Formats: sequence, structure tokens, C-alpha cells
Amino acid sequence: MAKEKSTGKAKFHPLEMALRQLDIAARKLKLDPDLHEKLKYPQRVLQVAIPIRMDDGHLRVFKGYRVQHSMERGPCKGGIRYHPEVDIDEVTALAMWMTWKTAIVNIPYGGAKGGVVCDPSKLSRFELERVTRRYTSEIGIIIGPDRDIPAPDVNTNPEVMGWIMDTFSMNAGHSVPGVVTGKPISIGGSRGRLEATGRGVVYIAEEAADYTGMDLSSATIAIQGFGNVGSNCASIFYDKGAVIIAVSDVDGGVFNREGLNIPRLIKHVKKTGSMRDFKGAKNISNSKLLELKCDILVPAAIEGQITERNAGRIRAKVIIEGANGPTTTKADAILHRRGILVVPDILANAGGVTVSYFEWVQSLQSYFWEESEVNEKLKKVMVNAFREVVRIMEEHKVDMRIAALMLGVGRVADAAKDRGLYP
Ligand code: GLU
Repeated sequence: MAKEKSTGKAKFHPLEMALRQLDIAARKLKLDPDLHEKLKYPQRVLQVAIPIRMDDGHLRVFKGYRVQHSMERGPCKGGIRYHPEVDIDEVTALAMWMTWKTAIVNIPYGGAKGGVVCDPSKLSRFELERVTRRYTSEIGIIIGPDRDIPAPDVNTNPEVMGWIMDTFSMNAGHSVPGVVTGKPISIGGSRGRLEATGRGVVYIAEEAADYTGMDLSSATIAIQGFGNVGSNCASIFYDKGAVIIAVSDVDGGVFNREGLNIPRLIKHVKKTGSMRDFKGAKNISNSKLLELKCDILVPAAIEGQITERNAGRIRAKVIIEGANGPTTTKADAILHRRGILVVPDILANAGGVTVSYFEWVQSLQSYFWEESEVNEKLKKVMVNAFREVVRIMEEHKVDMRIAALMLGVGRVADAAKDRGLYP
């Protein structure tokens, strides 16, 4: 039985949700039951202990995981998150979503995810570095440029990726830049990777706007989450002239019906450490932000934010999932019934892993591209994936999540079938 996660008052089971999604896609695809059975299970699950000397001299042990769901289509790929609520069910669900995501954008990877149970805001920089290095060393037995390539996720960033690259390289005795993506550019990171997930969300928004007959240049947008995905997509939307009426982070957000000046807001956050009391805007809670009347809502924080409790009150026309798993299955059904188009995470936020793929290719070849080339190639991948999903959605008369799952699961199942079963 999948473990419950608390998301406010509602209960949320990410693995149960991921397995139910697989069942739906399998049924729609009339998938061979043997292949369906195989895809339910992660191929490898590694739990590690991370004993760390804290700055005050005492020893503390953190728990870490790396789950490799599938390597049918290529090396495993997926981020590493640092969060106090990380658990094995969540990491397994996220690994499974990575498998479908890489297949939907048709890049040659399987899916994986990692996590360390910790609250990075309560660790010093040196403690965080020791956690990262010991964790990398422990999962070092299953990662590598042609085995499994980690990347950033919730609460991890290029600096953390740099420590991962360095630790793996130290253990190997030579530089191995292809072992991780989302690295600093100085050690083989790709131009455009930092903004890639947010940029991908915007490319998808352009397609979704086209599809629904909306004018993006005057559309009103609300964004929940101001981490890497939320802040970058806010900046890119802003540069395109869209009206961003609200944004928020873990401590709440700000709202102005006429639109927020995002560069100024970023300065305000840097200066004060919070969004609160931004000049000309009203403070707003995270839950109220989700219920604002707007054209596009981008949940870009964490899982389980739109549930059966608030789905009836969502007033956006289109939801573009920047985060992984922000909408529960029950909420999905309510939104679909209400005619709200939900562009699912496994399509909408695939820009990050797509540019991770470009970074890996560049790292392996030691030949680096201009940012314009990265963005152009990213756009092509996102637009193609969106259009393929729309085609399936219309052909099978299903919602967009099921269509995306059908595309992803179908591609993985084809690969599994063509490889055959060992032994
Ligand atoms: N963590 C990101 C995701 O969920 C990026 C993964 C990657 O770049 O490998 O898609």
C-alpha cells in the first residue's frame, strides 16, 4: 500500500496515482498484460545511509534513495530532490513519471529519481556539500554517464550538481562530466539548461494558447512556486508581454490584477528574502492563488496541490503543470468535466530533461553549443511532443494526461517488446 503524504488537509499517494495512470494508459492502449506487469515495477531501488559530521561536531545520518524505474530506451535519467518529506513511494512515482516523460519527448533515456530526506534550509553550505558528496559516493555504484544520469530537482541546483560531478570524478580518478546534468557551465554545463524547464513551459503555453484560441500576449497568468521553474517561466512570460497577475513561493505570494513587474519582484525577493509586501501588490496565500480567475495557471511547486477539495473552485482556462504531480487523479476528473485543459507534467515540464539530454550529448562530445541553438532545438522537441499528444487526445477522445501517458507508455512498451525478456 502506498504511503500517505500530507498536503494540507487532503491525503495524497503519489505511487498509487502513478500506478493508476499506468493502468488507464495500458487499458486504452490495449497493452499486452505481460508488458503492463513489467512496467509497474522499478527495475532497481537503492536506499543509502548518509552519515555526516555536522558543523557542531556531532554525527547525523540522513536517508537517501535512487530509484531506476526503467532503462528500456536508454540510460536512466532524472533529478535528485532534497526535501524533508521525501520517501520511497514518492521517489518511485517520480522515477516512473521520468520514464514516460523522456519517452514523450522521444529522447533516448529511461527514467529514474533520487532523493535525500533533509531540509536544506536548516543545513549549512558545508553540511549540504558533505551530504551531497557522501550520497553521490553511495549511489556511485549505480550511476554513470551510460547507466544513470542525475540532474537538479526540488531544492537542488547547479552548485549541488558540481559537487556530484566532482565526487564521482574523484572516485573514478578522472573527470566524468557526463555523469550529471544541470552542472555549472564552467565544468561542462549547457547554456540554457538553468532556464530550460521554465522555457519549455512557455513553449507549451504558446502551443496551448494556439490550440484554445487564446492570445498569449495579453493572457493573464498565475504561477504557484518561485523556484527554478516558477521564476524562470515568470521571467520569460513577462518578457513576452503576458500579464502575470500572481506568483507565490512556500511562504505565500503576491497579486496584482494589472500585472506584476517580475524583474522588480525578483530584486525585492533578493533584498528582503520574501515576496511579502511587494510595492503595488496584495499579499495572497498559496491556496487563494490557485483559485484566481486567470487564463493560465502554472502550478510549479510540488505534488498534490490541486485536489478534489479545490478543483471545483479553479477558475483558470488552462493549467500547465510546471511541477511533477501537482494535480490528483480525482481533481483531474473534476477539471476535465469543467472543461479546463490540463497540460500534464510529463509533457509540460519536459523542457528540463530535454536540455539535460543536450547537455549530456555536449559533455560526451566535449563540443558546446550556443544558447540560441539549444533553445531552438528545445522548441522543436516541445512543439512536436505537444502536437503528437494533441493528435492522440483527439483520436482517442481522452484528456491530455491520458493522451500523453498513451504516447509515453506506448513507446516504452514498444522498446521492451523489441528488446525481449532476459533471460
Ligand atoms: N528534475 C527534472 C524533471 O523532473 C529534470 C530531470 C533531468 O534533467 O534529468 O524533469
